[in-house]
Amino acid sequence: MTAQPKNRDPHSRLALICDRCGTTRGTSNEYLTFRGAWLQLWQLATNEGWQGTDQPTGPHRCPTCVSR
Ligand SMILES: [Zn+2]
Repeated sequence: MTAQPKNRDPHSRLALICDRCGTTRGTSNEYLTFRGAWLQLWQLATNEGWQGTDQPTGPHRCPTCVSR
């Protein structure tokens, strides 16, 4: 349970949540599919230093936790 829809519409927005500290990394963009939204968000997150699996189910860690 790491990537979750930020609202009731699973197709519009997602938030990536760190499994360790709970930091969230959201996206303001909208996409047609959950998969497309997830892949875009994960690509942005990994560029920022997030680590984990490329699956929405996680686990994922934010850059702060990765560097600890
Ligand atoms: Zn963290």
